[in-house]
Amino acid sequence: MDYRSTRNENLRATAAEAILQGLAPDGGLYSMDSLRGLDFDWRAVLDCDTLTTAREVLTALLPDFSREEMEALLHDAYDGKFETDELTPTVEVGEDAVLELFRGPTSAFKDVALRMLPQLMRRAREKCGVEDQIMILTATSGDTGKAAMEGFRDVPGTGIIVFYPHGGVSAVQQAQMATQEGYNVYVCAVEGNFDDAQTGVKNIFAAVEEQNLLAGSGVRLSSANSINIGRLAPQVVYYFRAYAALVKSGKIAVGDKVDFAVPTGNFGDILAGYFAREMGLPVGRLICASNANNVLTDFLATGRYDRNRPFYKTVSPSMDILVSSNLERLLFLMSGDGALVAKLMAELKETGAYEVPAALKEKIAAIFWGGCCDDEKTAEAIGKIYADHGYLADTHTAVAWHVAQEYKAACPDHNPVVILSTASPYKFPVAVWEGLGKAAQEDEFAVMDDLCRATGVPIPKNLQGLQEKEVRHRDVIKKEDMLSYVLGKVKEDAWKK
Ligand SMILES: *Cc1c(COP(=O)(O)O)cnc(C)c1O
Repeated sequence: MDYRSTRNENLRATAAEAILQGLAPDGGLYSMDSLRGLDFDWRAVLDCDTLTTAREVLTALLPDFSREEMEALLHDAYDGKFETDELTPTVEVGEDAVLELFRGPTSAFKDVALRMLPQLMRRAREKCGVEDQIMILTATSGDTGKAAMEGFRDVPGTGIIVFYPHGGVSAVQQAQMATQEGYNVYVCAVEGNFDDAQTGVKNIFAAVEEQNLLAGSGVRLSSANSINIGRLAPQVVYYFRAYAALVKSGKIAVGDKVDFAVPTGNFGDILAGYFAREMGLPVGRLICASNANNVLTDFLATGRYDRNRPFYKTVSPSMDILVSSNLERLLFLMSGDGALVAKLMAELKETGAYEVPAALKEKIAAIFWGGCCDDEKTAEAIGKIYADHGYLADTHTAVAWHVAQEYKAACPDHNPVVILSTASPYKFPVAVWEGLGKAAQEDEFAVMDDLCRATGVPIPKNLQGLQEKEVRHRDVIKKEDMLSYVLGKVKEDAWKK
């Protein structure tokens, strides 16, 4: 039993059980007690290829999977799915390095984790002797849903239903979802906004649990969100790959420290960097970059987390978040105190805020540096990165780049900086085009073409010709009807293999 709830050391699970359950029964997140002393040699992986590195990192973090097992799952997850065998290439941009996480099948960084999570779930289901089919429910504001569908499509033992706000996603995202293939995939627009869709999904989980609605159906529900340890673990891999790339290029010697700047929303990506650090990788600072929704910037400066503030819709929408769920794991790993975490999370639920003890605040601040970047500065950064370095960055990457430059100015003793790039510029073409100082046309697809003509940066294959692809999903429902929609799909046989 390597895993436990962040809130209670007596609630234990194996890695496979933690992957199947997602959340611990008390609402806590599954975590190891500590990541130090794992059976893992960080120096040894620096000379390996990406999948071998992934095999070593993932078997250390999920010890009930054998190396052979993990290797097979990794091949199923990644072979032929990314633009390069490297999966996540590191490129030089000025004096910094950029770690490109968006070369996967939907051009979003979430592909890295959401290709692997379904494979881990499939195997965990077998390991735990679960006979039920697993139906994944997700509400999406655009990006996660597409990456999740692409990951779960045609994975035996699983199905997926994605809800998105009708008229609330971009034209490109809409086209990406409506044309999704796979025998076990359902996509449905909900009349309402993203919050309505998300609340609807939460209510379905609650109703199914309380009223035992799936008893005897041979189906159980699960989610694919980033609190699942099976989604977090695959993200640890690319920190080692970026470090290995800097060693290979001669920018650093083995043992030198590297700082990472991470565009942060739910705190999963940056927490994976902390995992890598705990596993021995010489990470100096982890730079936590936020947009105008700068709860984390304030938290790192003051030790007080306070979600009671206005919510901004920004040009970097995947970071428009006021509660960063994965921060709970950091609080636990740094304090080792489940009772403290339980108390803080209860305060967050009741009052929307909590304050960590001063000693814990100092410990966190020794590693994490926080900064933020509003939409205006994001646009400026996109223009500057392109003008100075000829590199086309998406809005989220631009936020991290801006904060990284602030960090370097504020901390002259900094190490070489790697900036994590989380989306293709073509996923947010209008904001990127405007960042280059141009006026955008109405039609998002036309803007993609403009951007391509002006910069010569190729449009990723999966985003080309989207308008010509067959539309396979047209369902639109009222938010009151989400539960009956799910119960209807659960009964169908088409997705059960
Ligand atoms: C999800 C996402 C992020 C934020 O990652 P977290 O792990 O939630 O902090 C940043 N950028 C993009 C493009 C994303 O999709």
